[in-house]
Amino acid sequence: MKFNTKAIHGGQKHDPAYGAVMPPIYQTSTYAQTTPGGHKGFEYSRTHNPTRKALEDSFASIENGKFGLAFGSGLAAIDAVIKLLQPGDEVISTNDLYGGTYRLFTKIFEGFGIKFHFIGMENADKIESYVNENTKLIWVETPTNPMMNVIDVKAVASVAKKHNILLAVDNTFATPYLQRPLDLGADIVMHSATKYLGGHSDVVMGALVVKDEKLAEKLYFIQNASGAVCGPQDSFLVLRGIKTLHIRMQRHCENGEAIAKYLKNHPKIEKVYWPGFEDHPNHDVAKAQMDGFGGMISFVTKGSDYDKAIKIVENLKIFTLAESLGGVESLAGHPASMTHASIPKEEREKTGVVDSLIRLSVGIEDVDDLIADLEQAIG
Ligand SMILES: *Cc1c(COP(=O)(O)O)cnc(C)c1O
Repeated sequence: MKFNTKAIHGGQKHDPAYGAVMPPIYQTSTYAQTTPGGHKGFEYSRTHNPTRKALEDSFASIENGKFGLAFGSGLAAIDAVIKLLQPGDEVISTNDLYGGTYRLFTKIFEGFGIKFHFIGMENADKIESYVNENTKLIWVETPTNPMMNVIDVKAVASVAKKHNILLAVDNTFATPYLQRPLDLGADIVMHSATKYLGGHSDVVMGALVVKDEKLAEKLYFIQNASGAVCGPQDSFLVLRGIKTLHIRMQRHCENGEAIAKYLKNHPKIEKVYWPGFEDHPNHDVAKAQMDGFGGMISFVTKGSDYDKAIKIVENLKIFTLAESLGGVESLAGHPASMTHASIPKEEREKTGVVDSLIRLSVGIEDVDDLIADLEQAIG
């Protein structure tokens, strides 16, 4: 099956009870047993729920994996991955990370004795110099948030394989429509399904997908033991979202390209970060590992300062000033004061998250209206 078909049918069966084409919302915590242990595969909804199961099978299908797991948020999914580790273990992570991931790593898991190295990963040799006998996981985000750096997953996977280290990739920005990390050698794919997979800004959810059965068993154990699962209603919403992922992503890519080019030619814009530009430092890698460049764009205005950036995001009328990304509607954000406020100024400026940086999640509205909105807001 090709991607567009998998988005709609992948892992899905019509409901056995009445043939419902959409998996019903099984809003139940428990399931009747005929005799202790005599049940139809479902006992308690923290462990399993049919609506969640349908979604988990869909996740596995679109990421070319075998096992999918759904969580109550993207961070809950990341939390489950780090719980594979023990005190004393070390993680090598991308330095330009989603702020909440950085906070989880440094403020929670460092306290439990796990050591994190945050490094630029453009060069795989550099990663190797951080590997030691305690290294158990490499954590990659690509494209990164919000600087749109692109990391060569195949190159990182070869380092991981050589040293028998797990490789996890946060695929939230690209989505499996544009990039399939398991095919590139990753062991675990993670999503904030809150973003493009859900696609309608109406649900918070996380996902993991793996191929290896042993690894899947460990993660299912953690999912059930820690209990950060999502409910059936949210599972239904994300299942519905995934059915249009391919169509939405096509338009996100088209609109993203038009807006990136518009901003690049704008006399008041200093720099535009978008992996589709030939002068993007990792453009060749992006071209090789992605099937398109997406609708996430960051930019800095000329000679701009904090106040100027704030004015622009306040002036926007169709773009909504809001956290999050990946919905049908266009959003604008100011990373330094919003998504990345939890990263110390000094740390975040090292990676380019300056006070004047603005991030756009380009939606699927009419692109002329979006450009006109930027035009009036930038002034
Ligand atoms: C939003 C986001 C997360 C966290 O996901 P939640 O669903 O908000 O918990 C992780 N990584 C990236 C890249 C994100 O954009």
